Amino acid sequence: MTPVQRTIPPDVEKQIEALPLDNRLPLLITDADEVLFGFMAAFERYMERNGAFFDWSSYRLNGNIRHQSDRSPLDGPAVKALLLGFFRDETRNIGAVDGAAETLARLNQKMQVVVLTNLPHDHRDDRRHALMRHGMNYPLVTNEGSKGPAVHALAARTRGFVAFIDDSPSHHHEVAAVGDVHKIHFVSNRRLSGLLGPVEHSDFSARSWQDIRNYLERQLKRHGH
Ligand SMILES: [Mg+2]
Repeated sequence: MTPVQRTIPPDVEKQIEALPLDNRLPLLITDADEVLFGFMAAFERYMERNGAFFDWSSYRLNGNIRHQSDRSPLDGPAVKALLLGFFRDETRNIGAVDGAAETLARLNQKMQVVVLTNLPHDHRDDRRHALMRHGMNYPLVTNEGSKGPAVHALAARTRGFVAFIDDSPSHHHEVAAVGDVHKIHFVSNRRLSGLLGPVEHSDFSARSWQDIRNYLERQLKRHGH
């Protein structure tokens, strides 16, 4: 595991300061790719159109994306370029995960919702467009690197219960250092989630948005909301 990043990038801090949050209400911080949006399904189609494929041997992208021509793995810079191309071309069109919009609307009656997504800031408007198109028009923060500092800054904006949803084990590791945040691990793609064992540092593993709803409703009750 890489060391936990502690400083918040200024352009992320500015976005969080501008959010209209109520410090008395509970807060749900949710990831976008593979949680609200079907990242892997869309990225796999993109790889196939661009001469590559994912070999499904483990959860990582690096080492598991291969050239269709000779099955050799793409190197780190090539994987990064492919991913940046995907964000540029597909962020606006990506499909939503079943149950995400309905569950967020329901939870939003009791909790504030913020979408915290690792995405180049340039594609923020595309992500906002996709969120709106799928009925998930919640405040959006684009982040880079660790999510720990951004979650820390968001959690400081409320005295209420705070929950965090993400598919990436590394973000759970980083957010564990923040303290009092309920961490829900959710990978919407079943085949991808099958490549991961139980995730250290998360409080709950969800298999669907219905699971997430049941868990959060129990926690909200327990915390008097
Ligand atoms: Mg994600």
